Amino acid sequence: MAVKRDYYELLGVKREASPDEIKKAYRRLAMKHHPDRNQGDAEAEARFKEISEAYEVLSDPGKRQQYDRFGHEGIKSAFGPGGFDFSRDFTHMADLQDILGSLFGGGGGGIFGDLFGGGGRRPAGGPQRGVDLRFDLEIDFEEAAFGSEREITLPLSKDCEKCGGTGVAAGSRRETCRQCEGQGVVISGVDFFRVRETCPVCGGTGSVVTRPCATCEGSGRVKARRRLTLRIPQGVETGSRLRIAGKGEAGLRGGPAGDLYVVLRVREHPVFQRHGDDLLCDVPVRCETAALGGEVQVPTMEGYAKLKIAAGTESGKVFRLRGKGMPSVEGYGHGDLHVRIRVEVPVHLNAAQRKLLKELEEIGDASNYPAERGFHAQAEAFYERRKAMGK
Ligand SMILES: [Zn+2]
Ligand SMILES: [Zn+2]
Repeated sequence: MAVKRDYYELLGVKREASPDEIKKAYRRLAMKHHPDRNQGDAEAEARFKEISEAYEVLSDPGKRQQYDRFGHEGIKSAFGPGGFDFSRDFTHMADLQDILGSLFGGGGGGIFGDLFGGGGRRPAGGPQRGVDLRFDLEIDFEEAAFGSEREITLPLSKDCEKCGGTGVAAGSRRETCRQCEGQGVVISGVDFFRVRETCPVCGGTGSVVTRPCATCEGSGRVKARRRLTLRIPQGVETGSRLRIAGKGEAGLRGGPAGDLYVVLRVREHPVFQRHGDDLLCDVPVRCETAALGGEVQVPTMEGYAKLKIAAGTESGKVFRLRGKGMPSVEGYGHGDLHVRIRVEVPVHLNAAQRKLLKELEEIGDASNYPAERGFHAQAEAFYERRKAMGK
């Protein structure tokens, strides 16, 4: 495995950097390496994940302290199995959306970025399709398991009513662009290398706004809000995308509206861990029950189920309950529920309990604890080998 790089080094900040300096450094690097800006560039994507991991740790005082004291080992448990996973472990989506907003020209109130990089001034002309929008939504595990309805408020833009979407102040008109003399294109280069280019001054429209509308500052668009009821189907997971046709930004001059993409992030649940459609559930079992065998109450999606365990069941043993996992998002079938036994040792013992356990300890036989016996036999063998080697 490659050596993990130092988080401070990755963000290019000093070890004593303030939270503000760390945030600034991350913003700058995220802008540079964001996948939307580097389409198809695997190296930029890897870099983006690395800096996001560094930011995840250094922006959290607790995690940062652990990292300062113990290095990468110290924050291992902060992430899920397999180490940092951007879609699962990154908790600063709001910061990132802030950055996305500035990447794509803003206008999203921090929640939105135009998915395909539209935004800004739109040239006049024929009908134009509205911009697709992305909305990030965090939902609870229960909502993903059973499906739900959510009211969301979309910040978007609509035609400015003051100027009717033209961007021109009342009493004024768009004037012919002097750069291209109204042609919308300019010729550049010399001799046979001459190329026709969209006019940089008027953006190809052939006309310019000389006195912009004060309400929309000449853009022809103003911010608006729209409430929408969203139906979340059961079985969705982090990264699932819901496409709601026609709910993006309104089209221009009679063009169709864009689409809305809702990108989901499902919060972790204290009882059920998700692995695709399968669920893992760690169930604490009293050590007396694990030794004697008996019935264990196991939570499933539909309610508690009884699980029989044999005498001498060890901590870590996994039972699979078929079809008791998450419903599949395609609408048919369920995953499995994996129940993992966690033997719990009793604490806060009273005098009577202590006495009984003491007795048990005294009459306990080596044959009752085969793992202990095997383990020490291996350890002895190690020391014998060492002696034989004369070390
Ligand atoms: Zn022009
Ligand atoms: Zn206006």
